[in-house]
Amino acid sequence: MLKTDKMQRLELYKDRNTQVLLNKFLSDEISELEPVYDPKLGYRYPTVETIVGDASSAETFLNRLHAAGILERRLYDKIIYCSKCGSANISIHHCCPYCKSFDVQRSALIEHVKCGYMDVEENFRKGNKLACPKCREELKKLDVDYRKAGMWCACKDCGKSFDIPVAAHFCRDCHTNFIFEDAVIKDVYAYRLKKEAKEEVAKGWVLIAPIREFLIENGFEVESPAFIKGKSGANHMFDIAAYKGEATRKVAVIDLATTTENTVTEQPVIALFAKIFDVSPDSAYLIAIPTLGENGKKMAELYNIKVVEAQNQKEAINALKDKLLKK
Ligand SMILES: [Zn+2]
Ligand SMILES: [Zn+2]
Ligand SMILES: [Zn+2]
Repeated sequence: MLKTDKMQRLELYKDRNTQVLLNKFLSDEISELEPVYDPKLGYRYPTVETIVGDASSAETFLNRLHAAGILERRLYDKIIYCSKCGSANISIHHCCPYCKSFDVQRSALIEHVKCGYMDVEENFRKGNKLACPKCREELKKLDVDYRKAGMWCACKDCGKSFDIPVAAHFCRDCHTNFIFEDAVIKDVYAYRLKKEAKEEVAKGWVLIAPIREFLIENGFEVESPAFIKGKSGANHMFDIAAYKGEATRKVAVIDLATTTENTVTEQPVIALFAKIFDVSPDSAYLIAIPTLGENGKKMAELYNIKVVEAQNQKEAINALKDKLLKK
């Protein structure tokens, strides 16, 4: 079945990893996600790796968000991998076109404007001054007395001269020399949140950022996402954990459940219960956008989970204000 981009996006907005990443964009922690260079592996996205687990899933994840129209990308760099061992630790050699040696001496070509004599810069050098080897006149001002007329290369191996060297690659790991035709080249991108996605998200798909701000303004210490260790020793992730109090620190955990249907199912209630059973916070909240089904409500009551139903972020914050602050 063919899915439209919009459907794909709505599905992705429900995904926990997408929410965590989008919140970093929305809270201005990231304005543009740039890759970080790693000499062994090439480029990586460490922020995304901490969300999804490893480097290859990070790329798949970013590609999906780009394909669905949530992220836009720009070409940041092209990375060259060794054709033999796959290493990204590659240097570029500028070689002699005749004998392929990279022992090439590069010089600037200089032309004496008055007499028209042209030669490499070294032959004009007299101490720290420049003088024309032909007419002996001193050259003082660039673009008046003399001009730069490009590059000239000399091969130290075969002695030939040329103006344009040929590029070759050298693998610093396995010491293989290879040429452009044989190189494995990959595009590397930097990512931004698309304007359209930002608008969709602002309508209420991802609420964590404003809720986090609201809690901080009201004197809570906030972690989002929060990883809390349970009695079993397992780490559990909550969308938000809010702490208050000095001596006896009270902790409230908050999860968010959104749906493109009319009501959220009981699934997020069950998931939250499993986590609070292990973590035992002082209170637990489930924010359901826009509403929670009857089954879910019954279960939430049974498990002592407070339910906040809201159409949008404003309603969610107002409802949370009532429940969380008046205690
Ligand atoms: Zn190699
Ligand atoms: Zn040569
Ligand atoms: Zn001259």
